[in-house]
Amino acid sequence: MESTITKRQSVEVKVGTIGIGGDNPIRIQSMTNTDTMDTVATARQAIALAEEGCEIVRITASNTTSAENLYEIKNEIAKHGYDIPLIADIHFNPKAAEIAAGIVEKVRINPGNYIDRNSNGHSFSDKDTSDEIKRISERLYPLIEICKRHKTAIRIGTNQGSLSQRIINRYGNTPLAMAHSAMEFVRICRSFDYNQLVLSMKSSNVRTMSLSTRLLVGMIDSEGCDKYPIHLGVTEAGEGEDGTIKSAVGIGSLLCLGIGDTIRVSLTGDPLAEIPVAKSILQASGCRTYKAEIVSCPSCGRTKYDISSAVRQVKEKCGNLKGIKIAVMGCVVNGPGEMLDADYGYIGSLEGKVHLYRKGKVAFANVEQEKAIDILLQMINEDSK
Ligand code: SF4
Repeated sequence: MESTITKRQSVEVKVGTIGIGGDNPIRIQSMTNTDTMDTVATARQAIALAEEGCEIVRITASNTTSAENLYEIKNEIAKHGYDIPLIADIHFNPKAAEIAAGIVEKVRINPGNYIDRNSNGHSFSDKDTSDEIKRISERLYPLIEICKRHKTAIRIGTNQGSLSQRIINRYGNTPLAMAHSAMEFVRICRSFDYNQLVLSMKSSNVRTMSLSTRLLVGMIDSEGCDKYPIHLGVTEAGEGEDGTIKSAVGIGSLLCLGIGDTIRVSLTGDPLAEIPVAKSILQASGCRTYKAEIVSCPSCGRTKYDISSAVRQVKEKCGNLKGIKIAVMGCVVNGPGEMLDADYGYIGSLEGKVHLYRKGKVAFANVEQEKAIDILLQMINEDSK
């Protein structure tokens, strides 16, 4: 049964050769964790990420020297025959952003720390706020001009952990504050007629990340802005299983609402490990297909064959068959009904025996389990001819 939720129709923003938003597939991106001044190591990791299926790579540029070194990294990547688009990750340093914008395809800036002054705890009047926004606008203008000239995109990437004191004083440290923080920058960009924007709301709290993103989408729509693409990610999600689950809940739930144009799964450790997780989240939420979809029941007292080894075998032999759905079920009581939309079914029947289904109908009845995987593969091969 098809989901009735449709994807939020965003505009396309080009990041080099890769489009984000519009009719493009939801893009996978990641970030290197090498020293940006180590050109070879950073280029090597960016290439490894691209080989794994990452479509855009972000590299930190913490000062003007590392921003300049992005040029060397880009050349080193090109030397190996790759043209993966790069993003410079900037905090606190407008000058580094301006240098990077002439080199890489996209610059990520954080509205919480791009130039905002620390308010030292005093509250801002409306006049103070408008003066501050004017100051931000003047400081953002050179970056926007460079981005226009070089067709460089900008991500306005708000993090809950680095909101400016000014914004916190006004809205509290809340999802609403996060959305307002980004919208100030959006309005400034629009005032300079610059719209190559991607927006993100990140927090290590999944509910905050989700609510702030939904608030932001509402503000974009109510102000009549272009429907800028949305970047999704749970920041500091953690490592391993915990980080994977947090990312899946935060990113996946928004994708299921039709929100999101590019995703980054943040896991502590080797960034290469993020890519299979990102692919699984996209596949599980029905956004992209990378492998066969294999569903299986948990099994129960009705299961009369070794379903665990059957699932392992089916995954091993058929997992790479992108675009087909195979259901492995424990019994014929509930199995057939639960797997109606599967292309193939592998369902327990008598002791140690299974039925093999094709498009909801029994193709082979009471097959010995040992022979079932070969017969299933034969069926799939015949059908693919
Ligand atoms: S499909 Fe059959 S074996 Fe599997 S959980 Fe349901 S009733 Fe039990």
